[in-house]
Amino acid sequence: MKVLKFGGTSVGSAKRIEHVADLISGKGRNIVVLSAMSGTTNTLVEIAEYFYKGNVPGAQETINGLQAKYDATIAELFGDSEYGERARAAVARSFAVLRSFCNETLTEAGEKEILSQGELMSTALMQNLLEQRGVRSVLLPALDFMRTLPGGEPDMSHIGSRLRRLLDMEPQAELFITQGYICLNDRGGIDNLHRGGSDYTASIIGAVADAEEIQIWTDIDGMHNNDPRYVENTAPVSTLHFEEAAELAYFGAKILHPACVLPAKLHNIPVRLLNTMEPEAPGTIICNTTPAGTIKAIAAKDNITAIKIKSGRMLMAYGFLHKVFEIFDNYHTPIDMMATSEVGVSVTIDDRTNLANIIDELKDFGTVTVDEDMVIVCVVGDLEWHNCGFETKVLEALGSIPVRMISYGGSNYNISVLVRAQDKVRALKALSNHIF
Ligand code: ADP
Ligand code: ASP
Ligand code: MG
Repeated sequence: MKVLKFGGTSVGSAKRIEHVADLISGKGRNIVVLSAMSGTTNTLVEIAEYFYKGNVPGAQETINGLQAKYDATIAELFGDSEYGERARAAVARSFAVLRSFCNETLTEAGEKEILSQGELMSTALMQNLLEQRGVRSVLLPALDFMRTLPGGEPDMSHIGSRLRRLLDMEPQAELFITQGYICLNDRGGIDNLHRGGSDYTASIIGAVADAEEIQIWTDIDGMHNNDPRYVENTAPVSTLHFEEAAELAYFGAKILHPACVLPAKLHNIPVRLLNTMEPEAPGTIICNTTPAGTIKAIAAKDNITAIKIKSGRMLMAYGFLHKVFEIFDNYHTPIDMMATSEVGVSVTIDDRTNLANIIDELKDFGTVTVDEDMVIVCVVGDLEWHNCGFETKVLEALGSIPVRMISYGGSNYNISVLVRAQDKVRALKALSNHIF
């Protein structure tokens, strides 16, 4: 059994939904994970914002606009068929949920319910289309098995046992359809795995179902060697190690949700990145083995803040770093990069929620300076330290760009540099030109 996940663009129109139905039919008893149609989750976020602001007419207008899109998609997919009626009824239930918030104050739980409607609708459309085509597919409601623990981690044993039971109940099924992104939390409320989280759903399902492979189908032919949104002439990377893929996803390669690599890696299940618009393209395979001694790809993570703490006392005096880290810890703020010297330490964060408090407390230990609007540019590959010359290559490429921090040796797979946001595209292009 394989897990096949299709992203928002892949199911973004009636034509695309039909194309995905072609791709998944007759390919074995696989589990297909769908995102919401592209644009839907953003629109649902907007609707929730209107409700939070008490702007009910704004919400109503946005809901009506969204419904018109779904009505048109259903008309194109089904015409007047019986399955069209079923799809219409399912979508109507979602719009009734959205409109129910016109008469009540929106809470966080309500917002999560609003955000869940996109995946509920896309899967209802696909399920009815497959049935109309005579494919024996079964809809597995994600809310019947996908659950998180306190703290938000997936409850793998619960998900595994519930999913296996659901699969065993349908021996006749040719394939299964389920929603990405949505789940129940530990309190039993509707929740989600954060934006882009359908990749994570696919990986969790792949892990608990011991899948042969997890396929992430999207709008590009695999992981490219640089960010195609900023750099021309990027090329797909054929093979990546799990660790390389994890670094790239965490440091900005949007094609993969950062959390999605871990479940696959732990269960040693290959992840294949494929292009829905070009299904024959080889894409990228992410697995346990990969060509050694090569740089694979470059990514960039935006909205980074660098904080420097210069100590009046000796930095390496026992306990200094502990005290600094404790402050970040107390404010649940992860550190991405760090660099130390005898007289100071620099760290970077991307969650600025508690920045003011953190700075205030750090001032007890030294002089604090902050650089905002920074970007981590991350070069990923098999960069095991005995391989000579990779660091030089990276720094040579960045010869004319001011570099605020450098990090190397944290893993065998990455060299990271911190530059100003205004230098990001120049840095990405310079690295591509120099390295590939
Ligand atoms: P989906 O909706 O299918 O989940 P996403 O938009 O989340 O798709 O991810 C695909 C997009 O990721 C691509 O269209 C591309 O613009 C972007 N992207 C960023 N970095 C990379 C990279 N290194 N390789 C491939 N795609 C990348
Ligand atoms: N629909 C959700 C989003 O847009 C989840 C996903 O597409 O992965 O973030
Ligand atoms: Mg995505």
